[in-house]
Amino acid sequence: MNIQKGNFLDSERWEGRAFFADWQRTAAGVIEVTDPATGAVIASVGVGGGADIRHAAAEARVAQKAWARMLPTERARILSKAADLLEQNGAELIPWIMRESGSIYPKAGIEIEHGALFMRHAASLATAPMGMLIPAMDNRTNYARRVPHGVVGVISPFNFPLVLSVRSIAAALAFGNAVVHKPDPRTPISGGIIIARIFEEAGLPKGVLQIVPGGADAGEAMCTDPNIAMISFTGSARGGSKVAEIAGKHFKKVQLELGGKNSLIVLDDADLDVAASNSAWGAFLHQGQICMATGLILVDEKIADALTTKLVAKASHLTAGDPSLNEVALGPIISDGQVEIIDEIVNDAVAKGAKLLVGGTHDGRFYAATVLSGVKPGMRAFEEEIFGPVACIATFSSEQEAIALTNNSDYGLAAGVISADIGRALRIAEELDVGMVHVNDQTVNGGPFAPFGGPRKSGNGTRIGGPADIEEFTTWKWISVKDAATPHPF
Ligand code: NAD
Repeated sequence: MNIQKGNFLDSERWEGRAFFADWQRTAAGVIEVTDPATGAVIASVGVGGGADIRHAAAEARVAQKAWARMLPTERARILSKAADLLEQNGAELIPWIMRESGSIYPKAGIEIEHGALFMRHAASLATAPMGMLIPAMDNRTNYARRVPHGVVGVISPFNFPLVLSVRSIAAALAFGNAVVHKPDPRTPISGGIIIARIFEEAGLPKGVLQIVPGGADAGEAMCTDPNIAMISFTGSARGGSKVAEIAGKHFKKVQLELGGKNSLIVLDDADLDVAASNSAWGAFLHQGQICMATGLILVDEKIADALTTKLVAKASHLTAGDPSLNEVALGPIISDGQVEIIDEIVNDAVAKGAKLLVGGTHDGRFYAATVLSGVKPGMRAFEEEIFGPVACIATFSSEQEAIALTNNSDYGLAAGVISADIGRALRIAEELDVGMVHVNDQTVNGGPFAPFGGPRKSGNGTRIGGPADIEEFTTWKWISVKDAATPHPF
């Protein structure tokens, strides 16, 4: 499949540039964007350094005032128009997402579909009730309003670049915040240029959204910038910890959406074909490069061999290759460095006694769907987020053991429980110390309507999506009104 240089994403407009109040060159220069499947350069964009971030934040702060005063119905109209435009141009945009982030077609399609859903959800937030009347301790009127923070800095990762950027940007905009957004420098088109073009065409006032691709240095510049009030960060625990440290020191609100090592618990009464399919989808979708990926398949020892046989059969039929050329199940891993990390984790498991049943090999960046059994605590494969297509099977002998193995994780993002007995699965779900549990589904579930996130190294207690958005992207302002000023004791 070739990139179509259609009208909507005409690169004449943005090539070598970033999106400030308009498409402009950055002080820090340009970066090339490469297709991870082939290494081919597909575009170049403006890259931001500290000076570019400061420029963007100062402009955004000015633009934010009028945006916050705009009628909520008008903000909602622009967000709805943005959703329409994303859907209408999906056919042109999908090949860009596929090539830039190594996505198979269905995954790129999910980004368009969910991106538009997040925008529509944000449109509905714009017109939500925004405060409450509160009791007074004397004869006055007391009310508290939810107000925007001001400028929100958004930092997003490479894996679902469009959706994970839009979910913060759209929610922040809905309430009258301006946004400075820094997509990952490996995916600045899906995570940045497309979004800028959509909002430009949707009629967002100039300056309200500034998009500057860049690396950790640009992200850290956002965390210190006095014009930015909040950082909404999606990425690794390591990056998030650094962001929290710097932004905290500069008195900013910080929202962290970080990694996961997510258990899929398969009980002994599960349908094995369905459980194998859930395991494969959860572990291998987008080459396992998903925060909610099924990182551990915890299976009752009574059915472990039978489930393992079915999963191995499935994995050995999944093809890996360039998704833009062939219909494959798995595309490329994002970088050579990440391929090495996957290899190291698989080798560590085997050296410590796990069995490599299929895969464990790669052709360049195309890593084969891999199944390890006998994965145990003490192995990196048991404890770490792999971000590669590796299904790790571990066994348990009691429900309490399955719960303990899940809760002992450093992470706490998502879990799944598969059982024919919903009551039994639900009892386990209630015991799991994670942010999201799916009964009779694998762990990869997202969308705009539910509060997304989890404890420990998965986040800092914030959530994103659904009812959480109003909590995160606005703050309180208390206003009290007396009929007339009265004297005080002195
Ligand atoms: P990463 O932390 O290296 O990078 C994510 C973003 O943060 C990028 O834009 C990067 O440039 C920026 N960044 C990195 N270090 C920074 C710093 N010191 N200061 C400011 N910005 C910095 O993450 P990654 O490896 O590219 O992405 C994968 C990780 O993201 C995984 O751990 C995955 O689980 C996580 N993730 C979480 C969610 C979620 O919603 N919880 C969703 C997707 C991915």
